[in-house]
Amino acid sequence: MDSGWLVPLSLVFGVIVGAGMVAIIVAAAQRGQRAVDVVSSAVPDGIDQVIDALESAGVVLDPSNNVVKVSPGALAFGLVSHQSLVHPELVKLVDRVRRSGESITEEVHLARGPFGDANLYLFVRVARLGARYILLLAEDRTEAYRLDDVRRDFVANISHELKTPIGAVSLLAEALSFAADDADQVRKFAKRLTKESERLSRITQEIIELSRLQAADALAKPELVAIDHVVALAIDQNHVAADASAVQLVSGGDAGATVYGDESLLVVALHNLIANAIQYSPGKSRIGIGVSNVDGIVEIAVTDQGVGIPEDDLDRVFERFFRIDPARSRNTGGSGLGLSIVKHVAHNHGGDVRVWSQLGSGSTFTIRLPEAAPAPATTGEDT
Ligand code: ADP
Repeated sequence: MDSGWLVPLSLVFGVIVGAGMVAIIVAAAQRGQRAVDVVSSAVPDGIDQVIDALESAGVVLDPSNNVVKVSPGALAFGLVSHQSLVHPELVKLVDRVRRSGESITEEVHLARGPFGDANLYLFVRVARLGARYILLLAEDRTEAYRLDDVRRDFVANISHELKTPIGAVSLLAEALSFAADDADQVRKFAKRLTKESERLSRITQEIIELSRLQAADALAKPELVAIDHVVALAIDQNHVAADASAVQLVSGGDAGATVYGDESLLVVALHNLIANAIQYSPGKSRIGIGVSNVDGIVEIAVTDQGVGIPEDDLDRVFERFFRIDPARSRNTGGSGLGLSIVKHVAHNHGGDVRVWSQLGSGSTFTIRLPEAAPAPATTGEDT
């Protein structure tokens, strides 16, 4: 070939190769920029404030399913722990939305806490949020389900339990009118009448408490509750009864535990356990109220040195209106509702109540509750 062509030919070749290289570099840079855009996109503007303002449960997750934003409602329902979703059922929904890109609305039944058999019924909506985040919103439908169950058998039990004292009151009133001329008899019947009416009012009070627990908004607004305060209040309410039986109430254990819930309900539950411990203990004995806070579980144990419970009855003591010895219970004014209330309170808080007992030696009732998870320090940035 003529060497005169070589220079322009190599020039043309150089230009072509150079242009190709430039095109490749520009395309690569554009792809890189797109990738950077995806990786660095923050939670869309305003979402932080919306989640903070949500009364229901709201959670934002990043591509690795880390929780980057959570509403107080989601924490209170125990949906999030250590910046992850607690329930695998919810993780599955999130993964489905991430794969398909389609939003999902579903009703899910979840365990209320890490133990205990209470359920949460949630109406859940999961949707994509921007290029990389997933938004999960959940609305609580638990009460609607529970109300249906409760209504069914409650009325039957109440009417049965109220019939006895009401019958006694009408019989005593009749006896009183026949004995009008005998002052001693009148005093005797009047005393029994007072006792029966006190019993009636106690049962009514407990039925109201139980219905409140099972009513629509028992735990509608869970708040951070200090267990030390609950223990102090419940002990305070039992001081008079304890002094009357010369029973010593001793409290101790881990201080500073907190749970999400309703303080007044927790006080009622602990009050019932302490009142029973006093009721079923001999005079001059000791009752211990101990708190432990280990591995995210808060335990409040009430231990007595009382009559104890037969092994066969241990499973049944939490049933509504169950009494081991109805005659004795009638004398002490018991209705058989106290422990049922304790069980409901524990369940409503995502926990449970357990009993250990030995006839003649004493009993320990333990309420276990999930510890309040601290709110994670979340931002829109990767964590
Ligand atoms: P009550 O109002 O009859 O005390 P509860 O529901 O509180 O009803 O308790 C149910 C039954 O369990 C009681 O009747 C009693 O026999 C038994 N019980 C409860 N607590 C104790 C205890 N600390 N020691 C012994 N027996 C207990």
